[in-house]
Amino acid sequence: MSRRIQILDTTLRDGEQSPGIALQPHEKAEIAEQLERLGVDVVEAGFPGASPGDFEGVRAVAAAVTAPTVAAFARTHRGDIEAAGQALAAARRSRINLVLATSALHMEKKLRSDPAFVARVCRAAIEGGVTIMNLPDTVGYSLPQQYASFIADVRRRCPELRDVTLSVHCHDDLGLSVANSLAGIEAGAGQVECTINGIGERAGNASLEEIVVALKVHAEHFGIETGIDTTLIAATSRLVAERTGYAVQRNKAVVGANAFAHEAGIHQDGMLKDSRTYQIIDPQEVGVSMTLPLGKHSGRHAFAKACEAMGVTLAGDELNAAFDRFKALADSGAAVTLDELFTEVAA
Ligand code: MN
Repeated sequence: MSRRIQILDTTLRDGEQSPGIALQPHEKAEIAEQLERLGVDVVEAGFPGASPGDFEGVRAVAAAVTAPTVAAFARTHRGDIEAAGQALAAARRSRINLVLATSALHMEKKLRSDPAFVARVCRAAIEGGVTIMNLPDTVGYSLPQQYASFIADVRRRCPELRDVTLSVHCHDDLGLSVANSLAGIEAGAGQVECTINGIGERAGNASLEEIVVALKVHAEHFGIETGIDTTLIAATSRLVAERTGYAVQRNKAVVGANAFAHEAGIHQDGMLKDSRTYQIIDPQEVGVSMTLPLGKHSGRHAFAKACEAMGVTLAGDELNAAFDRFKALADSGAAVTLDELFTEVAA
């Protein structure tokens, strides 16, 4: 029996806190509409108390989407909370994500050393009416096992947490945000906070696409479901990269340009025989297609297939000669296209 968890996307709040990103209200609305199609449960749209622009951004998101809950970030200041409430007025479902500014530093230190203190804070917050409790690794310090045992410890000390949704929010300072998020889910979290392309403060947040795909690929292990339509992941990644100006690194898991590109000849040969040989994710499931780029590491099999796709069937000595010429060109370091090769051979 699988357990359904909530995906809170904070691309428009924590993601936008990346230096140099300032999304206009219409851009936030456009991304939020795409997040709605993707199937996220909660869109954290911004911090209305931070600036008039962000207030308008949250307002635009609240008016743009219907299915997801729209969340606004606020400190425990009357001004912040009122601004959040006003910005969310048009939302069908809304939520204010409160951060306790005076104790944030204290909490961060205690996260590492004193679950008893955190459990007391949780109990007080639940008594005060909180329905979702986020236990973040804001500084990206934890190891997965540490984070999981911290959450388990706090849950033991504060049984009232059974009545609320526990949320995890991890940063990537040690490259462990996704691993920590998955550990937190296994420790009982019912909501995970993440961003498209992993953008966010400093080294970024846990990447939505990596968490969702890991849960899917290892469904038997986790027994966890999400509401995400994974086939829209690639399009969502491209939209966020375009609007934020933050390009995705080529070798990024799931959404990088090379995530499904196989250049080594041995791998290409395997892929042409059976794609399961070197591919653990079906690229179509995340909205992309597998590629076999031709380069100095490519094999004869992939080269012949690529020629065939161009309408040129080569075999025997003809194939060997063309392949040798291709390898010589590729070894020179230049990017070679088959068009160029055919033009050269024909010349
Ligand atoms: Mn954060």
